[in-house]
Amino acid sequence: MVGSNEPTSALDRIGLADQRRWPDYLGKLMVALGIALILGAIGIFVLAFILRQRSGLPWVRVVSQDVSEARTLARPLYSARLGLTGKPDYVLQRGSDLIPVEVKPNRYAQQPYRSDLMQLAAYLVLIEETTGTAPPYGLLRYAEATFRLPYTAAVRAEVLTTLSEMRDLLRATDVARDHEDAARCRKCGFRDQCEDALS
Ligand code: SF4
Repeated sequence: MVGSNEPTSALDRIGLADQRRWPDYLGKLMVALGIALILGAIGIFVLAFILRQRSGLPWVRVVSQDVSEARTLARPLYSARLGLTGKPDYVLQRGSDLIPVEVKPNRYAQQPYRSDLMQLAAYLVLIEETTGTAPPYGLLRYAEATFRLPYTAAVRAEVLTTLSEMRDLLRATDVARDHEDAARCRKCGFRDQCEDALS
């Protein structure tokens, strides 16, 4: 009958039916999204844990750390006993403790590079050697994250072992190339004398 409010075609009926089911679709979509986010978070946590284990050094990510009072050193730290020298970007004074701070403003990684941790560890050893007081930790600052490296006996031992290995390599007359990176050889200052250089 003309003027009735009843649906007048099959299309109208389907359209109305779809509108009634829409909240169901939305609910399922939200549940699926929630599960995906939880799985993603677990995946990132596991990855971070694995990377942390592999770094071998017990770093901690720092949420905030005020380094505004950090100062620069007038000259590099030097230990004749260890044959080691170096200068952290900044040194922070906390009571009687000196905290080395290494800054890598162009690094955006969420995990510290092992080489950067080793550099910071060497500064920790140098501060202990030159002042007689072991710093409790050092700070590694990237563009978007700061990491704290506690100065433990294991960290100190790793620096001393690495130094010993480096001295052995320097004394060795025949050292094998440890990479397959031709670009690295092209930029190397020893390329003219090196019999192992890659073209
Ligand atoms: S040129 Fe020789 S010393 Fe230099 S990076 Fe290559 S292999 Fe190493």
